[in-house]
Amino acid sequence: MSQAILLTPGPLTTSARTKEAMLSDWGSWDVSFNQLTASVCNDIVQIVNGQATHVCVPMQGSGTFAVEAALGSLVPHTGKVLVPSNGAYCQRIARILSYQKKNVVVLEHAEDEPASPDRILAALIADPGITHVAMVHCETSAGILNPLHDIALVVAAQKRHLIVDAMSSFAAIPIDLTTTPIDALIAASGKCLEGVPGMGFVIVRQDVLESAKSNSHSLALDLHDQWIYMRKTGQWRYTPPTHVVAALRSALDQFHEEGGVSARNARYQKNCGALVAGMRTLGLRTYLADDVQAPIIVTFHSPDHPNFQFSKLYEGVKAQGFILYPGKLTQIETFRVGCIGAIDAKDIFKVTEATARTLRDLGVISSI
Ligand SMILES: *Cc1c(COP(=O)(O)O)cnc(C)c1O
Repeated sequence: MSQAILLTPGPLTTSARTKEAMLSDWGSWDVSFNQLTASVCNDIVQIVNGQATHVCVPMQGSGTFAVEAALGSLVPHTGKVLVPSNGAYCQRIARILSYQKKNVVVLEHAEDEPASPDRILAALIADPGITHVAMVHCETSAGILNPLHDIALVVAAQKRHLIVDAMSSFAAIPIDLTTTPIDALIAASGKCLEGVPGMGFVIVRQDVLESAKSNSHSLALDLHDQWIYMRKTGQWRYTPPTHVVAALRSALDQFHEEGGVSARNARYQKNCGALVAGMRTLGLRTYLADDVQAPIIVTFHSPDHPNFQFSKLYEGVKAQGFILYPGKLTQIETFRVGCIGAIDAKDIFKVTEATARTLRDLGVISSI
């Protein structure tokens, strides 16, 4: 079976070892599976140095399920949430809150502009009714990095709560909960931990979670209930994604063997640098300035040429074994290439070669 290499923001390319970890079946009540869950949660909290203050509550489903669980369980009905927005995942947070009939204030930014700590500070001072800030660390829509540490300090100084969607940054960009005050940090199995998709998790301050009983609008997404049950029994409340947890255990082992966050960050930085340099030699332009680009996914302007169509580029590159990703910006034509997953700069070099070949075949570029 041929294995395409995914240059996407998740699901990602996983290693053979991670895939092999899914060859056993696990009983959800069995003590060895409970130990597997506990060990995965333990490691996850340690990655961000939260063991003294935070607990990890896993949640079945894709990343959005965990975001929805966190917002539903941690923001009370009387809460009011400020959402600094520079992309689709920020907008999704606002949309989830409006489904939950909670008060939301969206602080709009341009899609190529990092969320501004100064503007957030001004908004918090102007409206003492705001109880929470909910933000995205790496906004995967454009691939922009938001200044989490500076925002966290502003929010803490104003004595408000901070909930962070760190879906595409967790394990790839350092976060230290002992120095960056965050109530809840949300991520998932199938992103930079390089597991398979199917399990989200919320790393949440234990005291915040303890006071979150009966907030939730939803039974299945009640984080507090999931945590209480898991503490009591060691089990998930409802059918766990057993194979996903087993794959994540293996992915975590490989993450530690690689050298943790700093090594993963270095590999992704290399991928990103090779990608941007290679694509620029083809005349392709990045959407973001280099200093706000996260080493996660890169947005490129579509070439301004009558022969260019993303679907044709996609098919041409796919025929050579690589899967690209469409753009997600509201105003302009773009496409995206991911830097994350079990891939290295050699793979990225092949992707840029495949892109060059396809653009030449389409007549978009003449030579390189
Ligand atoms: C991937 C991602 C999510 C979750 O998306 P799902 O499709 O539900 O897994 C949420 N936020 C960000 C920033 C993401 O990159």
